[in-house]
Amino acid sequence: MRTSINALVFVTFILLAQCGSKENKTKVDTPVKKAVEFPRDPHTFANADKAIMKHLNLDIDVDFDEKKIYGTAKIRFENKGTDIVILDTKDLNIKSVKIGDRSTQYTLHEEIPHLGSALEVSIDTFTTSITVEYSTSANAEALQWLSPAQTSGKRAPFLFTQSQAILARTWVPCQDSPGIRFTYEAEVSVPKNLLALMSASNPTEKKDSGTYSFKMEQPIPAYLFALVVGDLDYRATGERTGVYAEPSVLSKASKELEDMETMLNAAEKLYGTYQWERYDVVFLPPSFPFGGMENPRLTFATPTILAGDKSLVSLVAHELAHSWSGNLVTNATWNDFWLNEGFTVYFEYRIMEEVYGKDVAQMLGLISYSDLLKELEDLDYGDDTKLKLNLNGRNPDEGVTAIAYEKGYFFLKLIEQTVGRDNFDIFLNKYFNEFAYKSIDTETFLAYLNKNLLANHNKADSLINIDKWVYNNGLPDNCPKIASSRFEAVKSAADGFLNNNVLNGSKAREWMYQEWVYFLRETSDSISYQQMAMLDKDFRLSYQDNAEIAFEWLLLAIKHDYTPAYNRLERFLSTVGRRKFIAPLYEAMANNPKLAQRAKNLYERNRSSYHYVATNTIDKILDFSSPN
Ligand SMILES: [Zn+2]
Repeated sequence: MRTSINALVFVTFILLAQCGSKENKTKVDTPVKKAVEFPRDPHTFANADKAIMKHLNLDIDVDFDEKKIYGTAKIRFENKGTDIVILDTKDLNIKSVKIGDRSTQYTLHEEIPHLGSALEVSIDTFTTSITVEYSTSANAEALQWLSPAQTSGKRAPFLFTQSQAILARTWVPCQDSPGIRFTYEAEVSVPKNLLALMSASNPTEKKDSGTYSFKMEQPIPAYLFALVVGDLDYRATGERTGVYAEPSVLSKASKELEDMETMLNAAEKLYGTYQWERYDVVFLPPSFPFGGMENPRLTFATPTILAGDKSLVSLVAHELAHSWSGNLVTNATWNDFWLNEGFTVYFEYRIMEEVYGKDVAQMLGLISYSDLLKELEDLDYGDDTKLKLNLNGRNPDEGVTAIAYEKGYFFLKLIEQTVGRDNFDIFLNKYFNEFAYKSIDTETFLAYLNKNLLANHNKADSLINIDKWVYNNGLPDNCPKIASSRFEAVKSAADGFLNNNVLNGSKAREWMYQEWVYFLRETSDSISYQQMAMLDKDFRLSYQDNAEIAFEWLLLAIKHDYTPAYNRLERFLSTVGRRKFIAPLYEAMANNPKLAQRAKNLYERNRSSYHYVATNTIDKILDFSSPN
């Protein structure tokens, strides 16, 4: 069904011929004529029903002085007899568009909020490739340029991309929809002392020439298109797995991820052969806005998971799981985002259970539950608490909430409980096989689920109540309950501490981070300043290396005016750019009248070291009007 967004997709079929000029660029300022039929995806301009992108040949120069990428993108597409092809762009400077050696007419349309500008190119009905010469702009939202000071080694600059959800179009002209897949080759030139890596076959050593070649032979959607450039070294952790990181981080990083090969094997045992040949992880500087990004063959990861005790490696299990759910079987539009993330959380916990045991998986499940309850309240049980979202006309990033992840997880967990785990596993294997390298929407999944699983199980349908889970707000009553004996013990420890100021230190010192997080959440409403001081003295929580514990502790500190942790709070916000942590911390500060101004000052000071994805969220929280 198509709704409001078609009105946003303005396409003109009038070509403004300018005699004598080989290259005709028109800037169209008036909303135009006729809306294209295609996109089922409301976040692309592409006329993919008529001309759909199949392959990209990218040749780019990465210029750190100007903070720009210069290049040419040769795009091959399947032409179903149309004389225009439409690409997505945002803030790109288009220099020329050619068919072979011949310039062709093109129109860069008026910018539409969130979506950018449609690049409409005149072609012949038999044309199957065009070449766009372009450069990125200072506003390119996918790109984060870091100065040497913002890296661990402090010696060399660093660049990374973050293309999800619709930011690929800010650094390469393409058909930027999760429903459109293409293969690619790339040649990337960077300063000589730096290594370039992509979501593709990758080098493991720097080259004197500074020019690197890449190939991705499996078709991927544009949001998985990725580049990182920096002073990076490589270390293998197994036959098919390894770690890239800055030299000063490499040894800690590869130690932390030494179980990666085991995880990969466990994942394959669950849901079938890994399809992407290699699985490597690159650690980015701390300003990376996410925990991880599942770029195929090369997960991008935040260094905030390097806790020293493997306690946060579930993040890698999550990104690895995306090699099946997301990268292999992809949500067709961002309204179906739960198909990517709900499956991935479910799969992540299964991998964790295989590798680290049931206890750990149960604790993760219960933390998911508490995250979900909080999100439901934050979203006021409104329309964004449906699994099937309606992000039409909005930034698809607004769909990145615990609903897609945790509500999606509990929905799948309910199906598992209803039909039995063995049956669900058989079904999932079939599902990943059936839809490999395809993008599907929620309805396609539900039809497949009904036909291939639920139909064989008496009353499964009514027990699950799919419609309520997928199309209704809030959380249905039949949400699975997860029990964890470890958390029960933590709960009584928390009660004992709140009531009698007693906490068994030797036990608490053995807690896994999940237990600490649970403890801090359980005490968060009524803990006193003195009790916080006691915990801090005994467990040095203001100095915690584990970012998850530090985060929960800092939230408590803001809530209860525990000033001794404020130095750490400032340091944390000045060194970490992971949105999941910093957005709630700024929000909590803004909600505390004593800290509201301090939040603004701190944000102003740190804003330039955060990625657009993070600032886009926090600007709104703090009412910050962006200078650009
Ligand atoms: Zn994910």
